[in-house]
Amino acid sequence: SERSTGFETSSLDLPGWRHVYSGKVRDLYEPDLSHLGGAHPLGDVVLVVASDRVSAYDHVLDPGIPDKGTVLTQLSLWWFEQLGDLVDNHVVSTEPSAMPGDGLVPDAVVGRAMVCRRLEMFPVECVVRGYLTGSGLAEYRESGSVCGVPLPDGLVDGSRLPEPIFTPATKAEVGEHDENVSFEVVVGQIGLDAATRLRELTLAVYARAEAVARERGVILADTKLEFGTDPVTGAIVLGDEVLTPDSSRFWAVEGWEPGRAQPSFDKQPIRDWLVSPASGWDRAGESAPPALTDEVVAATRLRYLEAYRLLTGTDLA
Ligand code: ATP
Ligand code: MG
Repeated sequence: SERSTGFETSSLDLPGWRHVYSGKVRDLYEPDLSHLGGAHPLGDVVLVVASDRVSAYDHVLDPGIPDKGTVLTQLSLWWFEQLGDLVDNHVVSTEPSAMPGDGLVPDAVVGRAMVCRRLEMFPVECVVRGYLTGSGLAEYRESGSVCGVPLPDGLVDGSRLPEPIFTPATKAEVGEHDENVSFEVVVGQIGLDAATRLRELTLAVYARAEAVARERGVILADTKLEFGTDPVTGAIVLGDEVLTPDSSRFWAVEGWEPGRAQPSFDKQPIRDWLVSPASGWDRAGESAPPALTDEVVAATRLRYLEAYRLLTGTDLA
């Protein structure tokens, strides 16, 4: 069943796979079982393809950022490995097809696609914050707390929190904003056991990733994880992308200065340009943002590649 998304996606003709869903950035395909003798050799799987699409302020922008899909996928794979002893993940194979329609990764998307266990995703964005900014900061200024977690007085944009906090959000439909919710709301949605486990896992992943990033001079300010249940074993499994510039805020340790917005390794050049007079775009208005300039595209591409290089210590060839 094809879910409509309200924006242009270029679903590809991938031998052995059928397009089922496109989010703002990723395209999901399921096996075309008629090509595979009725069953995929690796079980109940989906192909998760990261595109070069980029979104900001809830708009998918034009053009995409070259190599972004590869950065998201390769960085996620690297992190899945770093986290392997903490939590099971959905990756089954990144093996390129040996022949078209064999159920492995088609040539056209090698490097930016993963064959993954099909999970039943929890309808919860598992956000964890070690630092205060963005929607967390906005909520704190209103209420002194974030997602029902009370915080001390006097925190400012970029402050390090006394300890990392779990600040879940409900997954919005395409075009809607995710909404920050309290832990109790998550319990109401998925039950106490699952909610408690997701909070535990999310905080454990953050603690590990924050330490890894810090060794490399990078602050992991916050991140969003998505978990699902393996329908066969019932296990809770880490899915989607992990610890990429799209799902996380990465700041340079050097240059961190609470009290102002921190420069980050992500699509910040796009946001800065869109809200500057140079773009001519009115964020509050009705019209879609203008096409990105070559300079903005190039600067954004370098940010993504730099994030990969800093965190993993290697260049993306
Ligand atoms: P948004 O544009 O707000 O990110 P989205 O999260 O739906 O919307 P993408 O992140 O582009 O869009 O698409 C990835 C989709 O695939 C998500 O809906 C995610 O929950 C789902 N997903 C990720 N891993 C799996 C998996 N192993 N099995 C099933 N669905 C998955
Ligand atoms: Mg997503």
